[in-house]
Amino acid sequence: MIYDLRASLIGLSYFVSAILFIFGLKRLSSPTTARSGNQLAAIGMTIALAVTLLDRQIVSFTSIIVGTIVGAAIGIYFGRTVKMTAMPQMVALFNGMGGATAALVSLAEFLRLAAGTGGGSGGAGELASIVLGTAIGAISFSGSIVAFLKLQELMTDKPLRWPFQMQLNLLVAVGILGLGVLVVLGAGGTAALWGVLALALLVGATAVLPIGGADMPVVISLLNSFTGMAAALTGFVVDNQILIVAGALVGASGTLLTLLMSRAMNRPISNVLFGAFGGGAAVASANGRGPGGAPAVVKETSAEDLAVALAFARSVVIIPGYGLAVAQAQHVVRELADELEKRGVAVRFAIHPVAGRMPGHMSVVLAESNVSYDAQLELEDANSFLRSADIALVVGANDTVNPAARHDRSSPLFGMPIIDADAAANVIVLKRSMNPGFAGVDNELFYHPKTKMLFGDARKRLEEVLQSVKSMAMV
Ligand code: NDP
Repeated sequence: MIYDLRASLIGLSYFVSAILFIFGLKRLSSPTTARSGNQLAAIGMTIALAVTLLDRQIVSFTSIIVGTIVGAAIGIYFGRTVKMTAMPQMVALFNGMGGATAALVSLAEFLRLAAGTGGGSGGAGELASIVLGTAIGAISFSGSIVAFLKLQELMTDKPLRWPFQMQLNLLVAVGILGLGVLVVLGAGGTAALWGVLALALLVGATAVLPIGGADMPVVISLLNSFTGMAAALTGFVVDNQILIVAGALVGASGTLLTLLMSRAMNRPISNVLFGAFGGGAAVASANGRGPGGAPAVVKETSAEDLAVALAFARSVVIIPGYGLAVAQAQHVVRELADELEKRGVAVRFAIHPVAGRMPGHMSVVLAESNVSYDAQLELEDANSFLRSADIALVVGANDTVNPAARHDRSSPLFGMPIIDADAAANVIVLKRSMNPGFAGVDNELFYHPKTKMLFGDARKRLEEVLQSVKSMAMV
């Protein structure tokens, strides 16, 4: 009777947790509700963790408490100190830990079954879950670690290639499959599962090494979905419903995010995984052509001239990109927008879905400096606002405003929806040089007759612009 009550309580609590996860995820889909979505999911996770501790199979609370304290301390430290631009590598690292955990739990369960302490040798379904949980978790772990090392610049972020790479990876995959079948058939013993683990670790690393550093956010999102799948499989192995639900949610949302990112970049996922793009392979180029192939002429402006143009404009659209995040210019850009608004200028921020280096990067960066969500326009609204805007001010963005995406079939950007900066009456581009962005291609916007370049670090130049605007008398 007591056991039944406990089982019902656990089941009910897991159900509540699952609902909280689903609503939390739903709210994460908009910057205005994302914070509360995160809180809902955190409450769900707290309930799930607390209730799992009621499980009768838990034998030692000491290791759980020690693990919780150490894990929480590391999590709090990273959560508080990580820079926004270093977020992708932190996600990679934490994701890798999830994959490793799933693999280790599957392995431990197998060893327990093999030692005969689990009350049975495991059916084919359970053994298949163990093999898949081990393999997918290990691939996610080693792949994530390579992604972390590339993004943290602890190894080269250039694509590493060697002869017969795909064929060798395929061979290793066949090896994993063969050993996995042996385990499921109960023929290979523990050595076969150790083999699955070793080969999966190998293939995770060798699959990510040939991918350029700048493509890592998409890869991390994919590996994140792998970790989710591995966790769900582990849920089947240890018979834990909430692990199955949470893993499936992570797996599904990671897959969707990967596809959305690929679509927003107009690149099939196969191109991200098997075709080198960006990743430091970009060549600095200053000899582009203007529209229609006209000789490239670059016009420069100064911070003072820009300040005058902004102060007397009716409407301005600020288009932030990766460079704004690198320069940490979000605070000064907000101050500049406030100062202009005080002068009656309508200021909007145009947010491209893949601006920066992670999904929602610009929204997150601008949220740090409390830019209101009403002032942030998504692609379509931004483009219609731009048609009547006096100035498009591009701050550290490049690919996401490259008009070649609209008409140049030979460009890797072709087909990617862009922010139509060139629809505004005047365009100012603020960046340090004529160097290309992530895609490594020249940007014809820089040579457009209505464009002027303001060269320099985004934060420093915007501070100068702000001071100049402030020093101007109001009219
Ligand atoms: P880009 O990467 O195209 O360009 C950024 C520009 O910022 C560079 O040209 C650089 O020029 C400039 N820059 C760098 N540092 C500074 C600085 N301190 N001050 C001023 N400018 C600076 O950025 P976008 O945001 O336009 O585009 C993002 C790209 O990343 C797209 O191609 C997208 O597909 C890709 N991507 C996005 C992901 C996402 O999830 N958001 C994931 C993976 C890839 P310079 O060196 O001359 O200063």
